Amino acid sequence: HSSSSFDTPARPSRVNRSGNRQKEASLIAESLAELSDSSTEDEQTKAANSWKRRKAAVLKKLPPGVDQQAAKQIVNEIVVHGDEVHWTDIAGLEVAKNALRETVVYPFLRPDLFMGLREPARGMLLFGPPGTGKTMLARAVATESKSTFFSISASSLTSKYLGESEKLVRALFALAKVLAPSIIFVDEIDSLLSQRSGTGEHEATRRIKTEFLIQWSDLQRAAAGREVVAAAAAEKDKERGGDANRVLVLAATNLPWTIDEAARRRFVRRQYIPLPEADTRAVQLRTLLKQQKHTLSDADIDTLVGMTEEFSGSDITALAKDAAMGPLRSLGEALLHMTMDEIRPIGLSDFVASLTTIRPSVSKEGLKQYEDWAREFGERG
Ligand code: ADP
Repeated sequence: HSSSSFDTPARPSRVNRSGNRQKEASLIAESLAELSDSSTEDEQTKAANSWKRRKAAVLKKLPPGVDQQAAKQIVNEIVVHGDEVHWTDIAGLEVAKNALRETVVYPFLRPDLFMGLREPARGMLLFGPPGTGKTMLARAVATESKSTFFSISASSLTSKYLGESEKLVRALFALAKVLAPSIIFVDEIDSLLSQRSGTGEHEATRRIKTEFLIQWSDLQRAAAGREVVAAAAAEKDKERGGDANRVLVLAATNLPWTIDEAARRRFVRRQYIPLPEADTRAVQLRTLLKQQKHTLSDADIDTLVGMTEEFSGSDITALAKDAAMGPLRSLGEALLHMTMDEIRPIGLSDFVASLTTIRPSVSKEGLKQYEDWAREFGERG
């Protein structure tokens, strides 16, 4: 998940039992990554500076009706900059990648080719078990389509920012047009569009849902309008400082069956993001081990692949991080005085040991529920 402060922490999974060890492992991994990352620092600084200037310009001349404070929150906390994700960072999911290329990336890069019958969808739903790469896919789409990436967790809209949420939603869509091409990524969309959130006691939640649907419809209408009076609509858009034609709502959910029917139908494309197949698990394990000193043979990787059925991508990452701690664990304080060369390589036994604590987050029954929903309402990938 992105580091935006609007994101709520990932939902608890059984993997969290070993949370401290994971934390420890990722801290070490991060500091190692920082050491090897300095070559691209210049480019990163340049990109950051150019974004700063763009941000300041946008805030200075906001579209009418957009709340200044909400706009500030959007550009500072919702827009994700830097730390790009590319297709190649994501193991497997070829069908989903292709669907996203066709639905978003190509239309954003060549809008002239995607009009009329080829008019791109305004919304796409990514559904599947947690930790299967939905957020990564969304971020990769933004990178590959050179779009501004807005990342918001729907549950934060309906909890933390409840009072401000309507303003925030309006500012979100307005700024997405101004900064187009834009991807609006809404994680945990179920908490906004579920049957429950539309009724009764949660009046405020209902209002946010309504506002979200209105703004989203406006996008769709703007696109349709452009078809009829293409040139005039385009001009009008530009005057208002935006391009509604290149804004897409990409939503993710682990609970697709809770989304109400009307909202579900608005997502013309519904892409299933399943647990990784054996091949994909092997690719991911190899990628994770690439920069590490290890003794795992091809046969060992095959063994591990066999032991990680029902693991999600994030379960595999957690497993590898935990196993990578294996060689350090037995050393205790002594590790502080050892050179890199003195640390033993990671072995299959480290993975086997970690498998006792790191378990898949989705159960067999849970999985069946996704498969059933995918069969009825989704496209497989
Ligand atoms: P989701 O949004 O589906 O819950 P994320 O995209 O946030 O899952 O994935 C969580 C973490 O799991 C990622 O940061 C990455 O480390 C790992 N991961 C999940 N799926 C994949 C994948 N297909 N390839 C590589 N890493 C993955």
